Amino acid sequence: MQTVSRILPVLMCLTMLSSCASDAEKAPAADPNEKNSGSVFAMDTYITVTAYGENGEKGISAATKEIERLEKLWSVTDEGSEIYAADHAGGAEISISGETAELIRFAEEMHSRTNGALDISLYPVLSAWGFTTGKYRVPDDDEIAQLLGRTGVDRIKLGDNKLTLPKDMEIDLGAVAKGCAGDKAAAALKESGVECALLDLGGNIQTVGETKPDGSKWKIGIRDPNGEGSAATLEIGEGVVITSGGYERFFEQDGEIYRHILDPKTGKPADSGLVSATAIGREGRYCDALSTSLYVLGEEGAEKLWRESGDFDMVLIADDGSVTITEGIEDSFSLTIPAELKVLRR
Ligand code: AMP
Ligand code: MG
Repeated sequence: MQTVSRILPVLMCLTMLSSCASDAEKAPAADPNEKNSGSVFAMDTYITVTAYGENGEKGISAATKEIERLEKLWSVTDEGSEIYAADHAGGAEISISGETAELIRFAEEMHSRTNGALDISLYPVLSAWGFTTGKYRVPDDDEIAQLLGRTGVDRIKLGDNKLTLPKDMEIDLGAVAKGCAGDKAAAALKESGVECALLDLGGNIQTVGETKPDGSKWKIGIRDPNGEGSAATLEIGEGVVITSGGYERFFEQDGEIYRHILDPKTGKPADSGLVSATAIGREGRYCDALSTSLYVLGEEGAEKLWRESGDFDMVLIADDGSVTITEGIEDSFSLTIPAELKVLRR
């Protein structure tokens, strides 16, 4: 499902039409402010691509096709996907594409860098909670312990284009796939000649170009986890802003709220004191992996990872309403809600 709309100022249209009429041989000058946008529903989210300049429509079509292609490759529920094939191979080795192997390898690396906070082998536990189907329930401790026994990324056997999962294991790239799709969609836009674009993958923001055509920076809102609007805004050049929030998927039972990001150590919803974690950097798959991990790690663990890494910034919103940011975004960050703000410095 794809829609493309063209938004051109009426006056500009008229100017172009009149110049075409007066000189049919001469092509109208390209308008760098021409703005096109297209949307697609994929990876369980509404995705919108906005592109500026004369190659916008071509770029949007290439970007949305790329996202749909990757969804077919990585969906955990689509019977034709490589991940579905791996999860249902009954312990046999299967052939996978180089880009799937690369993303699994990356997730393994992030598992070790985050001290296990990111774990693509949690799928059986996520399923038991109903987060994958919407049939929510609270599994008891024995069931969780038994399901955790089926996890462990060190049990994945990955060759160049070969993958073998133990019979009882299932993997899910849900915590990194959208970010990686953003990287590849941004590359597709650039290959189509687009120099200026904004991708919104259900709140995962990725920009192409250091500025908008008018020379201003991209202004990105960070959602208020406790309300409808934004809690803060951030001005960025070319890069990504990716948020993981407990508000995205949750259910309530007996007065208790259960949220969709699990702590791999307990098999239960992460209870780290954070209600949202945003990672800001250059690469989508990295920031996607980070946002999920920061949410699990909580303030202290997130600060430790930030100090060890040195290649991303972050915004953490705690359940007491306080906001923590890192020094790299201090000058471009503005709170839009009243909150206590703490800035981490190296
Ligand atoms: P994100 O929105 O990128 O934070 O990804 C969250 C999704 O990843 C969830 O909806 C689950 O499908 C899955 N997930 C939940 N907890 C984890 C975890 N600790 N590691 C990896 N994937 C997870
Ligand atoms: Mg993520």
